[in-house]
Amino acid sequence: MKEGEQGVVLRVRPYGERDLLVVLFGKTQGRLPLIARGGRKLGSRVHAVLQPFRVVEVRYRKTREVGTVTQAELLERFPPLEEDPVRFAWAAYGAELLEHVGEDRDARPLYDVYLWYLRRLAGNDPPELVAAYLELATLRAQGLAPELHRCARCGREDVPLVAFSSEAGGAVCADCTPLLSDAYPLSSAALYFLRAFAQLPPGRIGRLTAKPDTIDEVARHMDVFLAHHWPAPLHAKRVAREISRPLLVAGEEPESETAKET
Ligand SMILES: [Zn+2]
Repeated sequence: MKEGEQGVVLRVRPYGERDLLVVLFGKTQGRLPLIARGGRKLGSRVHAVLQPFRVVEVRYRKTREVGTVTQAELLERFPPLEEDPVRFAWAAYGAELLEHVGEDRDARPLYDVYLWYLRRLAGNDPPELVAAYLELATLRAQGLAPELHRCARCGREDVPLVAFSSEAGGAVCADCTPLLSDAYPLSSAALYFLRAFAQLPPGRIGRLTAKPDTIDEVARHMDVFLAHHWPAPLHAKRVAREISRPLLVAGEEPESETAKET
């Protein structure tokens, strides 16, 4: 039976000597693994089209297990993600998150969220904030979203939320903070971003700018929350950060050299 689907390529890997295993995140089906016969051959059309983080339209023959691609057409690509290893690594982190939730029906809205994520990564928004949005959306799709509107421990709504605790499951009040061993201070700026991200659809998120301290804080809360609640270990975010670091140092060198000369 022939079928068609629009999707984003999450990853591609060799499958036997001639073929490729391509994992798509389909607009209507979520995670969709497919085999591209002869796809490893250089110059093959399928090889040229089915590259990570491209939006494609595929026709495929459904078989007992994994379907076989019969046709693939490119709909959209993001050159900065394909050319810059740091952006590529962040895109791969998004793919890692989606691979865990993709087989669930509730994962369908994540297609639009992932497209938003790739577009923002290709632009100039801070990757750590862009990632926090995708993280909150994927957590929500699994019913694991943090509580951000009332104290996650005592449930009170009429008190300021001043700390974040993964153990309690979100933001907590000043009375509950000393009772939780993992509660970190939560700034109002970080709470603002977390709440906006948890509520707004991708189309309503404007350009993301924040002080470096706020970005670091949002990223730290998300790291700790994911480590506590995500059902599997996540690796790609660490890789993306490790790649980012030496490039930042290299970027600073010319300035210090100029300073020496003058
Ligand atoms: Zn409380």
